[in-house]
Amino acid sequence: MKRIVVALGGNALGNSPEEQMQKVKHTAKPIVDLIAEGNEVIVAHGNGPQVGMINLAMDTASNSEAKTAKMPFPECGAMSQGYIGYHLQNAIREELINRGMNKPVATIITQVIVDKNDAAFENPTKPIGAFYTKEEAEKMSSERGETFKEDAGRGYRRVVPSPLPIDIAEKETIQALIDANQVVITVGGGGIPVYEDGNKLVGVPAVIDKDFASSKLAEIVDADYLIILTAVEKVAVNFGKENEEWLSELSMSQAEQYIKEGHFAAGSMLPKVKAAMAFAQSKEGRKALITSLEKAADGIQGKTGTIIVK
Ligand code: ADP
Ligand code: MG
Repeated sequence: MKRIVVALGGNALGNSPEEQMQKVKHTAKPIVDLIAEGNEVIVAHGNGPQVGMINLAMDTASNSEAKTAKMPFPECGAMSQGYIGYHLQNAIREELINRGMNKPVATIITQVIVDKNDAAFENPTKPIGAFYTKEEAEKMSSERGETFKEDAGRGYRRVVPSPLPIDIAEKETIQALIDANQVVITVGGGGIPVYEDGNKLVGVPAVIDKDFASSKLAEIVDADYLIILTAVEKVAVNFGKENEEWLSELSMSQAEQYIKEGHFAAGSMLPKVKAAMAFAQSKEGRKALITSLEKAADGIQGKTGTIIVK
């Protein structure tokens, strides 16, 4: 039996509620395959399109005649965890029952602790929500102290920092559910970023990378495997080029070399490779695997995917 943290990417979820409800039915299959083989599975996932949609809807409604309350970004993140978690726990439960397995599934609304002094707070990089004109952006920037940046010629968007995860506030609850042999869905969208202020946890408008949060989760629950499921079966060097080469195994020194040579795109494959390296390095015997959703079961048997080892 292995303890496995499975991190789901955007292709596991889809963009609209209808699409997501359909997609998670397929996503549930490889997850339940791993459970059926006797593994303990903890599920983590991204939330980019979902939190973007919620944030945009909330902004639009508060700027409209309806004048609904302005929804802070951490609250939008919490909503996305609930919405995605609902679909995932619904689909995984059904798939388990269909296969005669009686195992409870639950989503934990998860706060992930970040360092208030993380350098990322000085340089916000993640665009979120609606597009605005220069004038609107300048007005909001001076009224609310939010940062706006021009986004690829399409207008101005709010940008938020992407700090690193340090700890998970609900880790004891996650551990208790794992120990009780239950399936846990956690650190959705990388978790709701909070910093510690005495007894308080204070939510901050930021986005923690889901690959880094999943790696931290895997360390904390002492997982054997971190499996990052995405749209590609393997990691490549010279990705998308004529001399593209798919990698079955990646050592630390190779990975570092390839990162230096710029083989992994920032914001997509780079955080996955770095998160995989961090986990594989954190303790002897820990392995990270990057593969596609469809190949998860083959990947864990060593038949495909890119394995990252110390
Ligand atoms: P997710 O939603 O799963 O986080 P991303 O789109 O952020 O997915 O990252 C996965 C994507 O990274 C792949 O679909 C691929 O297009 C891209 N990518 C960039 N560089 C590489 C590489 N070197 N090898 C494989 N895929 C890469
Ligand atoms: Mg991604």
